[in-house]
Amino acid sequence: MNIEWSAEDLAFRDQVRAFLDAELTPDLRKAGASLTSVYADYEVGMAWQRILHARGWAAPAWPVEFGGCAWSVTQRYIFATETAMAGAPPVSPMGIGMCGPVLIGHGTPAQQAHYLPRMLSGEDFWCQGYSEPQSGSDLATLQMSAVEDGDDFICTGHKLWTTHAHEANWIFCLVRTAKEEIPQKGITFLLIDMTLPGVEVTPIVSLSGEHIQNHVFFTDVRVPKSNAVGPIGQGWTVAKYLMQFERGGGVASPGMRARIAKAAAILEAQFPDPADPEAVALRRQLADAAVQVEALAAIELRVMSALSVGGAPGPESSILKTVGTELSQRLTEIALAAAGAYAGAYQPHMVSPGGPTPGFIPPPQNDGVGPDYSWTVAAKYFNDRAGSIYAGTNEIQRNIMAKAVLGL
Ligand SMILES: Cc1cc2nc3c(=O)[nH]c(=O)nc-3n(C[C@H](O)[C@H](O)[C@H](O)COP(=O)(O)OP(=O)(O)OC[C@H]3O[C@@H](n4cnc5c(N)ncnc54)[C@H](O)[C@@H]3O)c2cc1C
Repeated sequence: MNIEWSAEDLAFRDQVRAFLDAELTPDLRKAGASLTSVYADYEVGMAWQRILHARGWAAPAWPVEFGGCAWSVTQRYIFATETAMAGAPPVSPMGIGMCGPVLIGHGTPAQQAHYLPRMLSGEDFWCQGYSEPQSGSDLATLQMSAVEDGDDFICTGHKLWTTHAHEANWIFCLVRTAKEEIPQKGITFLLIDMTLPGVEVTPIVSLSGEHIQNHVFFTDVRVPKSNAVGPIGQGWTVAKYLMQFERGGGVASPGMRARIAKAAAILEAQFPDPADPEAVALRRQLADAAVQVEALAAIELRVMSALSVGGAPGPESSILKTVGTELSQRLTEIALAAAGAYAGAYQPHMVSPGGPTPGFIPPPQNDGVGPDYSWTVAAKYFNDRAGSIYAGTNEIQRNIMAKAVLGL
């Protein structure tokens, strides 16, 4: 694997840097730097998406004919790295990152022509309706029913943990259109307009104090059959296709390097005497985490290298997901210890959470407690607990690695 950038790649990197210098406003930079969730909140994420869209860079991985960039895998990696290093807030992944590739891979030309431009512009904001109260890891047991009635399906069911459903006007769902002996059969991938009668969204406020996830209830919602993506009853194939975009291809190491630098700055501020044994112990933990971040960066480069010669990420996406989320949680623990007593002042409203924080009074009515370097620490710690659960729990990823990598 050659990890030297070519002259062309370096020129591209400079172009991206110039764009970020010019377009990433101080407000967006501040929001990105104090982000405590993997999601930016709706307004922040959309503000950045509109800027990217105006430049034609909102969907780098899409084919050019659908509004993507004609970038190589290496250029996409450079773009992801540079935007993360500059502290740009993330764009919501459910539309451009997940549903878009599914429509490109499995949608009809009419579906592609209708939905993809609206997804890019932000006119449509998407959420993902997979999980149900009894179906998470064992997703194929899902029960939400879609009964054929003329040209429509009548949909009834309950989706759970639906990120940003309270902001979204569209949801892509897995629904059961037939009961078969094998649970993976009889599932259909269906696009549902959230403004239809019978759709109700209620909040789930998480451990981190944010309202990002939701319950979504469907009661006799009439959805045109033409909203099915792929053949009716074969949604499991479409769902599996989507999961590789959900779990793979991310670049987490640049953001983690920034967090290590931040934790080191907190340590310096909190411990005026660098020889303080507690500071020494925490610096050791930080150094150990920094080594692991570089190992993660090497896996990311390996995946990028495989993709650049036409390969697929395969089980590496499970390795990245598991190592990345556990390392991220480790970093939150070190930052928490470094901030000491200040971490006890839990104030998600002083940072940039992934959604509203009901019950917390935001500035200017509230100035926050303690030094501002400590504000992200507790909020990020609590938010990050979910990292090993969503997008397929880490136990499930380990099962995949055991089978696919170790052949067990
Ligand atoms: C913050 C957050 C955001 C989310 N966003 C969305 C979203 O937008 N859309 C959506 O559809 N879903 C979303 N989810 C749901 C997420 O996909 C599920 O929580 C996840 O798949 C786990 O399912 P579960 O919660 O039902 O847990 P379960 O599947 O009930 O698992 C419970 C425990 O058992 C373990 N376990 C289960 N099966 C096995 C096995 N075979 N081997 C070993 N261990 C096992 C699990 O690892 C876990 O520790 C989100 C979840 C969270 C926390």
